[in-house]
Amino acid sequence: MNAETIIGIDLGTTNSEVAIVRNGRPEVVREGGEALLPSCVGVDEAGAIIVGQQARNQWAAAPDRTVVSVKRLMGSAEPIAMGSGTYLPQEISAFILKALRERASRALGHDVGRAVITVPAYFTDVQRQSTREAGAIAGLDVVRIINEPTAAALSYEGGGEDTRKVLVYDLGGGTFDVSVVQIEDGVVEVLSSTGDNHLGGDDFDQIIVDRLNQELKDMGKAEVGDDRVVQARLRRAAEQAKIELSDQPYVRIEEDHVAVIDGEAKHLSLELDQAEFEHGIDELLSKTMRSVTMALNDADVRPSQLDRVLLVGGSTRIPRVTRLLAERLGQEPHGEIDPDLCVALGAGVQAGMEMGLDMEAVLVDVTPYTFGTSMVGELYGQPYTHQFVPLIRRNSRLPASRTEPFFKMFEEQHSVEFKIYQGEDPDALKNVEIGSFLFEGLLQSEAAYEQGLLCTYHLDLDGLLKIHLVERATGREINGVVENALNDRDAIEASRQRLETLWQPLADASVSSDADAASGTASEAMEDTLMRATRILDDASTADREEISALIAQARNAVSERRSDDAEMIRQNLDEILFYLE
Ligand code: AMP
Repeated sequence: MNAETIIGIDLGTTNSEVAIVRNGRPEVVREGGEALLPSCVGVDEAGAIIVGQQARNQWAAAPDRTVVSVKRLMGSAEPIAMGSGTYLPQEISAFILKALRERASRALGHDVGRAVITVPAYFTDVQRQSTREAGAIAGLDVVRIINEPTAAALSYEGGGEDTRKVLVYDLGGGTFDVSVVQIEDGVVEVLSSTGDNHLGGDDFDQIIVDRLNQELKDMGKAEVGDDRVVQARLRRAAEQAKIELSDQPYVRIEEDHVAVIDGEAKHLSLELDQAEFEHGIDELLSKTMRSVTMALNDADVRPSQLDRVLLVGGSTRIPRVTRLLAERLGQEPHGEIDPDLCVALGAGVQAGMEMGLDMEAVLVDVTPYTFGTSMVGELYGQPYTHQFVPLIRRNSRLPASRTEPFFKMFEEQHSVEFKIYQGEDPDALKNVEIGSFLFEGLLQSEAAYEQGLLCTYHLDLDGLLKIHLVERATGREINGVVENALNDRDAIEASRQRLETLWQPLADASVSSDADAASGTASEAMEDTLMRATRILDDASTADREEISALIAQARNAVSERRSDDAEMIRQNLDEILFYLE
């Protein structure tokens, strides 16, 4: 055993990970390519304890011999039945910690006995103590317990010098929390934290499970609700479908022999679409957004004062989460570091600091640009023929993949041109076109019209952008490749500018009237904001009055100098302040 070595552990509700430090950088240990160890413990048929994937695999068939989500029970003295025995929550957790400790020892080539373990910010003293005990049972000296949002912030910021404010939005399998964290001179402090101990991916799975049960009921099998094995199978299928819906618009759930009706084995087959799923979880996501507002209020921090928004937890891969946060906070959240791994990596950074090492930030590969296509849609609330539709967003971790459905304008349309753009402007024509694919001979039927086409972008580490188009009704497809999509920035900036100059004189009447209409809407919004801002001046505190007056002046300048992007940014800042004051 090396007495100096400390490992970092994220002991999660659904999955756990362990990080070690190599060359001053934290690294999550993978086994068989897999970093996540399912937080599942079980007793196999022969009576031996099993941990991780093996336990998870038997969960559906042997729920009585398997324990999941033990983290929710930490701090309670209630024994848990597993197989023929009973265990305390910290004992079950200790099995997971032991498996992680062994993983780390194998990766390092020597045994380890000390660890930093993360816990949710809301964990009480009893729950923290119970986590320490779990460590001790697993043979680990727990040198520090740190909060998960702190660890997440550390994974991004390392031990940096400057002061930063970070919002950490953590939506996992069973729990949700949001924290505002301040980093000052390398010291990380949680300013506020709120959330819900019983909200997460499991609830989203349940919404799909309910839908599947309804389907079975409609098929004539009224009583599957109490069959634990069937329910566990449905839950697995639901989770798989949910995960696939994060990067594709539809998914088909197929479960063979899921029920026997009138002596006949029945097969479940159901298509779910992303929009329907997102609609189903909307209420739960709105609840998380209310917690975001509360965390900001508690910390007395405005959205514009946030330096970063960080995503943690597997459920933040649901695209609607990112969209809602971007709308609410006015900035794109960062997901460069794998949301499943950033807490473990941060625990690794802390472990390195505890060992007295100079820690460097985590290394990630991200795309510096957004990649997308265009469609007939709208720009600034007005109809527009070249609306940019982002598929892979800037700062996405590589490799990245995303599928979106597109629909013909009318049933008889027999070809469609997919243009591939790179850039950040909502107007596709202001981005750089890097490729285009013509899909001809489209089927002209109502079904084909309704099912549309699926477009997939896959961007790999080398900047190779693969495009896959498929007509759903026929399965006909086109595969294309854009090489060097991540070419150097200067070249792209040059071609962006070239496109811009080319585009201006060519702008036809309809485009310019669109633009005029758009600026009309923008100026209406500006007038409204300025009016509200002026109205509130008398009642505002001295500090707020100064800030608002300065922004009003800046906004007026930007408008008179026709700097519309600046004007819009200033207007949004003002709006945000007004939101709080009003
Ligand atoms: P965590 O507790 O952070 O390990 O998060 C686990 C939860 O994230 C589980 O509910 C998973 O089903 C969910 N999850 C993992 N990957 C995805 C994905 N791509 N889309 C949606 N949910 C996911």
